[in-house]
Amino acid sequence: MAVATLTIDLTALTDNWRALDVKSAPSVQTAAVVKADGYGCGAGRVSAALSKAGAKTFFVAAAEEGIAVRQNTPNDTKIFVFSGCCDADHQILKANNLIPLLNSPEQVNHFTSTGEKFGVQLDTGMNRLGLEPNEFNALRDQIITADPQIIMSHLACADEPNHPQNAQQHASFREMTDGLTAPKSLAATGGTLLGADYHFDLTRPGVGLYGGAPFTDAKPVVSVSVPVIQTRIVEIGETVGYAAFWTAKRTSKTATIAVGYADGLTRQMGNHTNDHRVNLYAGGTPCPLIGRVSMDMITVDITDLDHIPTHLDILTPHQTVDDLANAAGTIGYEILTSLGARYNRVYKA
Ligand SMILES: *Cc1c(COP(=O)(O)O)cnc(C)c1O
Repeated sequence: MAVATLTIDLTALTDNWRALDVKSAPSVQTAAVVKADGYGCGAGRVSAALSKAGAKTFFVAAAEEGIAVRQNTPNDTKIFVFSGCCDADHQILKANNLIPLLNSPEQVNHFTSTGEKFGVQLDTGMNRLGLEPNEFNALRDQIITADPQIIMSHLACADEPNHPQNAQQHASFREMTDGLTAPKSLAATGGTLLGADYHFDLTRPGVGLYGGAPFTDAKPVVSVSVPVIQTRIVEIGETVGYAAFWTAKRTSKTATIAVGYADGLTRQMGNHTNDHRVNLYAGGTPCPLIGRVSMDMITVDITDLDHIPTHLDILTPHQTVDDLANAAGTIGYEILTSLGARYNRVYKA
């Protein structure tokens, strides 16, 4: 089959979860964020594996995303929905035993009277989702009486340990929640790495589980191997690909491989003339990506290889999601969640 193979290493995933789990005290629960289909890795498979490794709480962005998690985890697993609850979600939440994080006074007023489980999200400075301090203070008694499953907030700058906003948000979170007995959570991957002050009762890492920065010690989880579909000789002065962007300076051997920007390998990765920034790997040997990235194909200079490979790897321990992100001017999160549906996805236990 001439599509690329995307391999998801579930052992590396669960190892990463355990490695993040031991960063916090045994009394702190480590949850897992599996939004955007488990950062592109498959929310069902990922949550099943993490659940077996010991994760008891999961987070998704939208109610619809919680269904796959519910179907692949034990019944007592808690599944929270960051975006809260609108009328359209209510049936999905109820039918799948999902817990919304209430983000506005309207949601709080509606939900605290239903007797259904809920959590509350507070805004401590990111200004994206959650109750403002004055809104929370006005509803505090009503919320606490209704017994929230969690009270959480999200850090905007946790991947920059020295950013002053971390301490500001931490202080704001404590000011709003000190003395309350409901479980509290502030840290995603970055916050987990900021240290014990940021852990509260539950950490909720996402990207670190999947091998991405800021968890620099993470094991790589995703690898991509791409079939070579044609090779050719390109003479000096001939060009390769759209816009004639690359010109052969020597007689070159090139390989055309079956992956492109429709597979999340953005065009930006091939927009570098002098200092090519992305390699394809034949085993451990780097071969430069040349010319423009097409929708379904990438061209590679394999002149220096002593053989014609059947496959070349673009995501490998030699070139991680963060390396690709740097080359494309983005972040590992975006690489992971852009990889798309065309791959032959293979799970390695
Ligand atoms: C995405 C997200 C997380 C997980 O963040 P990572 O940086 O991937 O660890 C945690 N909490 C909230 C509110 C999020 O939106």
